[in-house]
Amino acid sequence: MAGRIPIAERLGSDAFDTDPTSHLSLSDPKLCATCPGRPCIRVCPAEVYHWESDHLRISYENCLETGACRVACQTLGNHALIWTYPPAGRGVQYRLG
Ligand code: SF4
Repeated sequence: MAGRIPIAERLGSDAFDTDPTSHLSLSDPKLCATCPGRPCIRVCPAEVYHWESDHLRISYENCLETGACRVACQTLGNHALIWTYPPAGRGVQYRLG
């Protein structure tokens, strides 16, 4: 049985086949300006979300497809995030689970 693999090594082995169109979008970007705490930024393990002075930048290319941001936005945020999976065959490809 193989030993435990550190999470950084697991994540470092992932590959991405990025679609040219983002699978993450906002119903109304203005909702993020008044969002309490912007929980999407805090929960995303891939640091997809960044606040840049007056808008939310979404680096969808790094998405690990956990859906954590979707739950955070719907339960703690302003319900702006529209979350879908990338098209079939695109997005993250886990190598070590
Ligand atoms: S949690 Fe939702 S509403 Fe709040 S900043 Fe993130 S995407 Fe925008």
